[in-house]
Amino acid sequence: MKVLVASSEAVPFAKTGGLADVAGALPKALRRIGVEADCILPFYRSVDRVRFPLSGPGQAIRVPIGHQEETGSVEEAKAEAGAHAFLVANDRYFDREFLYGTRDGDYVDNCERFAFFCRGVMEWILRSGRRYDVVHCNDWQTALIPVYLKTLYAGHEPFQSLGSVYTVHNLGYQGLFWNHELPMTGLGWDLFTPQGLEFYGKINLMKGGLVFADILSTVSATYSREIQREEYGYGLEGVLYERREDLYGIVNGIDYDEWNPATDRWIAANYSAADLSGKNACRRELLGEFGLTKGEGPVVGIIGRMTGQKGFDLLEQAGDWLAGRPLRLVILGAGERKYEDAIVALGEKYPDRIAIRVAYDDVLAHKIEAGADAYLMPSRYEPCGLNQIYSLKYGTVPIVRNTGGLADTVVDDDGNPGEGTGFAFHEYDAEGLKDAVSRALDAFADRPRWEGIVRRGMEKDFSWEASARQYVGLYEKALRKRGRKG
Ligand code: ADP
Repeated sequence: MKVLVASSEAVPFAKTGGLADVAGALPKALRRIGVEADCILPFYRSVDRVRFPLSGPGQAIRVPIGHQEETGSVEEAKAEAGAHAFLVANDRYFDREFLYGTRDGDYVDNCERFAFFCRGVMEWILRSGRRYDVVHCNDWQTALIPVYLKTLYAGHEPFQSLGSVYTVHNLGYQGLFWNHELPMTGLGWDLFTPQGLEFYGKINLMKGGLVFADILSTVSATYSREIQREEYGYGLEGVLYERREDLYGIVNGIDYDEWNPATDRWIAANYSAADLSGKNACRRELLGEFGLTKGEGPVVGIIGRMTGQKGFDLLEQAGDWLAGRPLRLVILGAGERKYEDAIVALGEKYPDRIAIRVAYDDVLAHKIEAGADAYLMPSRYEPCGLNQIYSLKYGTVPIVRNTGGLADTVVDDDGNPGEGTGFAFHEYDAEGLKDAVSRALDAFADRPRWEGIVRRGMEKDFSWEASARQYVGLYEKALRKRGRKG
């Protein structure tokens, strides 16, 4: 089987979030279990041309955009350890400072940029002679590929039996655009209906992926169920419910080459479940780094985009209460200004208790995972979430809201005595958060119990191989839908 993973970002070439981790790691994991897999993404300015040399001349492509034709090329870039990716190049669209937009907002031509990317992938397959069995698309930026497959390009030989899988990594970002952008995509107005891409008078690209792909998935089983309900569906719950027979949930794997306290090169001392002694050195270094010299109790870490999704409003509401408990908070994140300001103000009010770093800092993220005793992730919704899984591996007990991937990866130790790996609360409110933190503090005071929770978490295995095998199962289902043997 030969699979093409199409994504708007992929590690190590370009990253803004968890999607890049998945799009980078999945093809690698597929290749390890004997599936041929390529990855294709836009050729952004930020792709390092020295670190990732291009191999040979690229394939020229001509892509209709409305009544115009845009030219570009698809290049192949090599990365370390045999990894490679195809890059769709067009300087007008992708030679920019950022991937999707500046702090002031999204690039205004994002619909055109990603329509070019999607149609460019189709043209490249058509012209290059490369053949795939399945194309695996991700989030709104690549959602037009399954649409093109079944409409504009349906008659072309390479696409007649090509299966498609579409994965939702975050339903909060759907690719909504004004309807006057539709002709530019080359699609006809017959698709601008509630059964097609229309969504309250606008074009919804993600909806196109959900309607047209053979098989759908999202990044945890719980999230795949939640998004069929109004509370989590962001208006797409009806479409998702209708396609529930084709909708699956596969939790993301973790790249243990990067996230493993036994080998992590960024932390003060390495450690493992068999010998936890190094974790103390990591804790000391972390407290020093954040200037927290006084205080008692567990160090609680938080890392993440400062948005409503990640529960920073709950943190703000519970801030005074948290500062009065025997614990210290270390927070690393950047995002929406209102959350940044509120959290910074909290740190200024309680300088001995709460320390904030407003930044995106990979190395510091490793130091927090290693040096903290517990990790707080009170997300409003969480498709999968990575940091709670890193935390398990680092013996840093996760305290989470019981939603999406958090519900699927963390077991509450009060609900499951002797089996838990963390603490979870249900209702999205400050009282729930306080209750879970209080229960974690009780457990922290009981050393044998706490150590049991730490060890059980460290022993859990979330490596990519299991998830990659489940994706192969989805690719087989997609092929069967196209009348082929899986
Ligand atoms: P999402 O993709 O919704 O942002 P995930 O938990 O799936 O959330 O993945 C976020 C990834 O980005 C994790 O690898 C996390 O460590 C990293 N990350 C987020 N914010 C920061 C930050 N300020 N500094 C360093 N790493 C960050």
